[in-house]
Amino acid sequence: MAGVERRAAGAPAGGPVMGGVTVRVPAKVNLQLAVGPLRDDGYHDLVNVFHAVSLFDEVTAAEPDRAGAADRPVRVRVEGEWAADVPASDDNLAVRAAAALAARAGRSYRADLLIRKTIPVAGGMAGGSADAAAALVACNELWGLGLPLPDLMEIGADIGSDVPFALLGGTAVGTGRGERLTALETSGVFHWVFALADGGLSTPRVYGECDRLRAEAGAAVPWPRVSEPLLAALREGDAPALGRTLSNDLQPAALALRPSLAATLRVGRDAGALGAIVSGSGPTCAFLAESAEHAGALAAGLKDAEGCRGAVTAFGPVPGAAPAG
Ligand code: ATP
Repeated sequence: MAGVERRAAGAPAGGPVMGGVTVRVPAKVNLQLAVGPLRDDGYHDLVNVFHAVSLFDEVTAAEPDRAGAADRPVRVRVEGEWAADVPASDDNLAVRAAAALAARAGRSYRADLLIRKTIPVAGGMAGGSADAAAALVACNELWGLGLPLPDLMEIGADIGSDVPFALLGGTAVGTGRGERLTALETSGVFHWVFALADGGLSTPRVYGECDRLRAEAGAAVPWPRVSEPLLAALREGDAPALGRTLSNDLQPAALALRPSLAATLRVGRDAGALGAIVSGSGPTCAFLAESAEHAGALAAGLKDAEGCRGAVTAFGPVPGAAPAG
């Protein structure tokens, strides 16, 4: 992991955070999400090929001002288009991550966090996990703890199964609940368009619908395995082959809960996307493009599609939680 810079930036408008450490963290898209049978503990074994894309949240951690020092040890403020959908309380995953880091260090630490939110909330792009990862990196630096990446990944895994990948970035396969990670070899850059939807989809609800649809169908659920053609496409930087091998076992459930997503996927496919899938538990839809120009054209076609809040372009892979430029 790259080192983290200590920034003495001016305070953002109207807020308590004065300077501090700012970390930028990417969203993820799942290139393959294979969901195994429901386990006794309520989780599923997964094969999860994560890919970090250039859609970023920023988290700044700063020493609290004197007035805040008697208040809660970690406070959070959220800015940006999606701020209203994010809890500004101890339930915020970034606050939970900072508190878990302080507990691991065995000391009482304080921080004011400012999250600048660009990753859609409850959009299947692991934005909450991303903020937790960024908070771990930022507070590790702010408090001078010097914990190495594997320790942060271990702490992060207790917050959420997508947190370790947000720390690692790049492209990686996750097994277990998705938290046991192996980095994957890739070549070149892949260009993406993300169609954003109005309103989120609850991840537990999508898994529940997946279980319900499978029970209704009555077929045995196979053990999840990583797709060899997908690994080859990544290694060779072969975008058309990658487009053909994208897969998401949660997609039928997301489409059942949000039927308008089928039309969004169709618009992208008809416009020449190399691949079109629901991202994770949705409702964001991901489209693979041939080039940056092609991504721009796809986004222009998608942004007015029915049920679409907008469309953004991005590329991947990008590094995990790291200092803001
Ligand atoms: P995943 O792809 O990991 O399933 P997601 O992208 O669908 O996740 P998130 O944006 O991570 O969903 O948020 C899920 C819920 O977590 C939100 O509805 C929100 O209430 C809560 N939450 C807590 N902290 C945060 C945060 N920092 N950012 C976004 N959501 C948060």
